[in-house]
Amino acid sequence: MSFVLHGAGVSEGIAIGHAHLASHAALEVAHHILPRNKVSSEISRLSTAFTTVREELETLHASVISGPASAEFGAFLDLHRMILDDPTLSSAAKTYISQNQCNAEWAITQQRDVLLAQFEEIEDAYLRERKTDVIQVVERVLKSLLGHPGYVPPPLKRAGDSILVAHDLSPADVIQYKQHRFTAFLTDLGGSTSHTAIVARSLNIPSIVALHNARQLIHDNDLLIVDGNQGVVIVNPDKHVFSKYRLRQNQLELENQKLKRIKTKVATTLDGTTVELHANIELPQDIQQVKENGATGIGLFRSEFLFLNRDNLPDEDEQFEAYCAVAQKMRGLPVTIRTFDLGVDKNLDSDKRVAANPALGLRAIRLSLAEPQMFHTQLRAILRASHYGQVRILVPMLSSVSEISQTLRLIERAKESLLDERVPFDADIQIGGMIEIPAAALCLDIFMHKLDFLSIGTNDLIQYTLAIDRTDDAVAHLYDPLHPAVLRLIAHIIRSADHARVPVVVCGEMAGDTLFTRLLLGFGLRQFSMYPTQLLTVKRQVLRSHLPDVIYFVKKILESDHPENTHTLLTKLNN
Ligand code: PEP
Ligand code: MG
Repeated sequence: MSFVLHGAGVSEGIAIGHAHLASHAALEVAHHILPRNKVSSEISRLSTAFTTVREELETLHASVISGPASAEFGAFLDLHRMILDDPTLSSAAKTYISQNQCNAEWAITQQRDVLLAQFEEIEDAYLRERKTDVIQVVERVLKSLLGHPGYVPPPLKRAGDSILVAHDLSPADVIQYKQHRFTAFLTDLGGSTSHTAIVARSLNIPSIVALHNARQLIHDNDLLIVDGNQGVVIVNPDKHVFSKYRLRQNQLELENQKLKRIKTKVATTLDGTTVELHANIELPQDIQQVKENGATGIGLFRSEFLFLNRDNLPDEDEQFEAYCAVAQKMRGLPVTIRTFDLGVDKNLDSDKRVAANPALGLRAIRLSLAEPQMFHTQLRAILRASHYGQVRILVPMLSSVSEISQTLRLIERAKESLLDERVPFDADIQIGGMIEIPAAALCLDIFMHKLDFLSIGTNDLIQYTLAIDRTDDAVAHLYDPLHPAVLRLIAHIIRSADHARVPVVVCGEMAGDTLFTRLLLGFGLRQFSMYPTQLLTVKRQVLRSHLPDVIYFVKKILESDHPENTHTLLTKLNN
């Protein structure tokens, strides 16, 4: 049956391929069909995982037996042991494997969903709440299974044409998928500037979030057309629709080829103003795309991605190697390394660090200052890398001047420790701050004295100005870069920085969206940083812009007091 789903397109392009479902679990799990002769070893793998978890629970029980909360915690562990031993979970999951010839991870999550549905029916609120315990027990089993991979799935059948369909993906999940050859991502949840969407965009494949129930409605291997521009998924299209999209896909491919011709062109407006177009990256391997798209520097290296998908922290040498590799490959062009922005959706330990309101919590520079040793390690690694290229330090989420002063002191301390050890570094390394909290934007004059450059993080600036959680699709429609408060703040930051002769760049998603290129040029912006794959379309827009015309419309947009009027003016500006 053919049907259409609508969501928020977060990465442009058209993909045609077959659905590959990820499980409904918090830990996303893939579904594999096993050869018949692998079924019994898969059942044993599940039994081993159950035994491991039982032992873990027993060890935990023994360790808390004398502690102050022993009674409560002991009862909780007993409950988990009971769930683990309940045949509705373990035996049923094994039967599921043999009946469906599937991997153990998939079987256990399916059985968990059956149990959760039964819990939903229970009237007693206390008992109903026990479903959280079921989820936790299954997660323990999953972690044990994932730590002992068994059946290794064969490469995707149709290499290069699988489309990942998931309920939700964390940025850490998406970064792992960098190694897979999915041609598109679809998720039920997510906002368009969530980190998950941003990472998907960096992969340069069409992606749609906020589809609500795609994971339920789409089946493994369904033929899908994903239109990332319109946010539309067509499931099992008929022949006519299929050929129409195939044609459109080919046209887009041709356009992309044509764009490559401006790769080495300097980004200069029609009236002769030159603009710097830098790239945002997450990992050193992204440099290849940076080169392919002709960026003149790295405007944002989101270093926190080095810290994800692992059980330990990267040590100083590992970090140094990553930063140094980027600095060397950029051959003297600027490389701006943002110190780790962990703590919201990018967590080191999801169990421990989740707060009720993480975007307002211990995030980014706040976390760095709360964990000085971890910060010191990173600062030393960045400083060491500064000897091998033009490295700059960027501090995320500044909200008060004392955070800058403390950070500067810690940078000095890191420098002194390197001096003592006679390790070379750039003594004049530039230090910039991200302006992404309205408080910082509003008293920019105080902040600017202490910084060499500013970087406007529009993703967070919009989130904090409009009080819209950027990861929550329920409020995604209110996330408005054209809100007058947002436009006035951005214009104010650029104008004030210009006045004080402090270089300023925009590195949030607005910088890579051609809808806003002329608007930002009109505000006076001369440095943009975006995903490498967005760079050439932005460059084409710069090459076609005439600043005196742009400034005329931008002034009117800033004065506009009605959204409709703003949109009309923006359309005129972009024509
Ligand atoms: C931003 O907030 O605009 C930004 C670039 O940082 P991040 O998206 O990583 O929070
Ligand atoms: Mg940010």
